[in-house]
Amino acid sequence: MPRPLPKTVSPLPDELLSGWLSRLAAANYCNNAELLAHIEIDTTHGTALDFSIDAAAAEKIANAARVAPDVVRSLAFPAMTPREASLTAQMPFQHCLQCSREGLSLRHWRRAWAFDCQVCGTRLVQTLGKTGDEQISGKLIFRARRGAGMLECAARSRGPKQLRRAMRAVTFAMSLKTFRGDPSFAVQNPRSEVRLFCLAAIAAARSQPLAKAAIVSKSIDDYARVALLRAFEKEPRLLAAVDHIAQRRAKSAGPMTAASHN
Ligand SMILES: [Zn+2]
Repeated sequence: MPRPLPKTVSPLPDELLSGWLSRLAAANYCNNAELLAHIEIDTTHGTALDFSIDAAAAEKIANAARVAPDVVRSLAFPAMTPREASLTAQMPFQHCLQCSREGLSLRHWRRAWAFDCQVCGTRLVQTLGKTGDEQISGKLIFRARRGAGMLECAARSRGPKQLRRAMRAVTFAMSLKTFRGDPSFAVQNPRSEVRLFCLAAIAAARSQPLAKAAIVSKSIDDYARVALLRAFEKEPRLLAAVDHIAQRRAKSAGPMTAASHN
């Protein structure tokens, strides 16, 4: 068993294990890799411990930091439902500028639905976001925040229906932005323009279902049609209905409308 560290720091509410380990390392004047090597943990990435920490590792860390092993384990993510897991980022993708300045890394920041810091209330920013984040319109932020709230409800609801609806809206938004990949990754995107647009789409789809959007849309161009089809790809019955509506709209909108979108 390695010797206890000269200094220890107490974990804060909702602090993530890897974040606390970083603070522990800093307090002992070493870096994260050196700290893990000292504790004899066989991983160079503290972030891997956030999702699965075995009893032996918890024991070693607890001993080195002079805290109870249960405290160490409580800093890692608890068991999650598959739905929750798909919306919880393995790597940091957003953070609170205020709290990270104090060396904090909180668990809720990893959730795709987290929008404002639960500790200080500051809006979370994407890790790859430019500091010129102010350029994002207030309207988009407002809608994205509402969408994030709906995503949380969907992720925590009993049935899969709500989340399926939310992800359909995200798929639609992704197609409009020609962004490829899994919709659950789009809402965890480290670039704010992708994430905010997709979250806002969840809120928009609530007030106006996508199939209806195809009907009311004054000028459904090929681009939007492809986006709609992609959004309904996994539901053949809805897909057929949407395609029918979209085609009819495209016809009645006329060639002028279609051309103006090129
Ligand atoms: Zn904060």
